[in-house]
Amino acid sequence: MVVQQVWTANSYRNFNYLIACPETGDVLAVDPLDYRKCLSVARERGWNITQIVNTHEHGDHTGGNGAMVSQTGAKIIAHKNARGRIPDVDRGVGHGDVVKVGNTVELECLDTPGHTMSHICLLSHTDTPALFSGDTLFNAGAGNCHNGGHPSELYETFSRQLDTLHDDTLLYPGHDYLINNLRFTLDREPDNAAAQKMLDIYANQDPENAHITTLGEERQINVFFRLSSPTVVARVREEFPEIGSEPDEKTVFLKLRELRNSW
Ligand SMILES: [Zn+2]
Repeated sequence: MVVQQVWTANSYRNFNYLIACPETGDVLAVDPLDYRKCLSVARERGWNITQIVNTHEHGDHTGGNGAMVSQTGAKIIAHKNARGRIPDVDRGVGHGDVVKVGNTVELECLDTPGHTMSHICLLSHTDTPALFSGDTLFNAGAGNCHNGGHPSELYETFSRQLDTLHDDTLLYPGHDYLINNLRFTLDREPDNAAAQKMLDIYANQDPENAHITTLGEERQINVFFRLSSPTVVARVREEFPEIGSEPDEKTVFLKLRELRNSW
């Protein structure tokens, strides 16, 4: 499996992805909003885009579909419940379905509601696993729930699915929010040395060549995975005294999501 992260340089800071089979050159494009850049990268590499996956129905993820299909004939794959909201879906998928690319690549669909209720992530079946997380999990952060999502579903997705992924899983999110998210983590957990170190190293990184985090790193730097950190709990309690002295993890997660909205 060859993964090319494509930085769109737009104001939403979207990342698109090309996932290629090295044997056949067949490519799956993930949320190819910047279809021109995706096509030109594929052309340079001699690749052939045959499928599109939309992680969810928002326009900054689906907006490149029409042009991409007309130039390549690629088939569109999305959550089966997104069919009404994404035009011309060829294949609706659910939890456990597998998307194959060429001869060598298999990607498993995870049903990951929260940011929207018809959101999928893709997990590669490779020696080093890779997660294409759309707007569910970001570097050092979590998706918002403003446009068709539910915070408690997002918590369930984190605790039941993302928390179970191996530490070496590479994370490929739908947007570049690393720096802002690290600042939010540090505002909740000022003694988080790993987050401070990452901020120091990557504060001025070029998103064309972004640092790819692992789930192991995320567990250190992403406040939405640090729900039992005494510092995090104490800081959340400063804003929401009603959570008491021993809040459960779901309560902390929901309050963090609320704080992030207004931060
Ligand atoms: Zn979205």
